[in-house]
Amino acid sequence: MAYVISDDCIMCGSCEAACPVGAISEGDGKYVIDADTCIECGSCEATCPVGAPHAE
Ligand code: SF4
Ligand code: SF4
Repeated sequence: MAYVISDDCIMCGSCEAACPVGAISEGDGKYVIDADTCIECGSCEATCPVGAPHAE
């Protein structure tokens, strides 16, 4: 399963820069992860200041 970003996202953009495969992009009200691209590396979870990304 891919990682997902919760509604806690404050749209800081840190995870987009941290993702090694470019799976994260700005969405409507929060950043979103493309499930088909995510390789479940955990970088977004480690980088996020509010703990919004998590493994499903
Ligand atoms: Fe990108 Fe890794 Fe987060 Fe998946 S877990 S969205 S590959 S940073
Ligand atoms: Fe949102 Fe966290 Fe990504 Fe920042 S690092 S855009 S708060 S999910």
